Amino acid sequence: LEPKEEFEHSSLAVDVMRPRRSDPALAVLTQEGMTVGEVESLVESTHYSGFPVVVSQESPRLVGFVFRRDLLISIDNARKRQEGVVSASLVVFSEHAPSQPPDAPSPLRLRGIMDLSPFTVTDHTPMDITVDIFRKLGLRQCLVTHNGRLLGIITKKDILKHLAQIANRDPESILFN
Ligand code: ADP
Repeated sequence: LEPKEEFEHSSLAVDVMRPRRSDPALAVLTQEGMTVGEVESLVESTHYSGFPVVVSQESPRLVGFVFRRDLLISIDNARKRQEGVVSASLVVFSEHAPSQPPDAPSPLRLRGIMDLSPFTVTDHTPMDITVDIFRKLGLRQCLVTHNGRLLGIITKKDILKHLAQIANRDPESILFN
């Protein structure tokens, strides 16, 4: 394949992804390290549409992605209908629930609502390629990794803002018209 003409604006995914250096850290869930209460307070203290799920805080390898709406609905349903699910219950996104003390409250298993293969690019992926992927696959968001570690997220709006900055035009008119 012939390489395309050199892109005039050579930004990389790392330049466009959030969080920026001055922003609060990426809001992530861990695959089996948080309670129902902790997940609820994370979700309620932010307005993000979704949350990456990582192995653990120490090992931020990407496991999947969950939408805010699905999390809230599932937790709400489980609290109403699932015996033993309380604030202290462990939320489990991994395949097998970790062993817990016998008196621990029932875990809440949420692997079913997680996207197991969210789209990712690396931090050094050029933005013209990332924009192409968004357009062609109709992505809403994409995660950014470096050596398998999750670094950040790029949403469709972030892409539109980036394109508007380049073109200095109405963002809605560029990507999807
Ligand atoms: P949108 O970009 O459509 O407003 P969001 O509300 O999900 O979608 O995201 C708002 C901003 O926060 C975007 O700039 C996005 O990159 C960033 N963002 C999205 N999800 C997260 C997250 N889990 N942690 C930190 N920042 C996020």
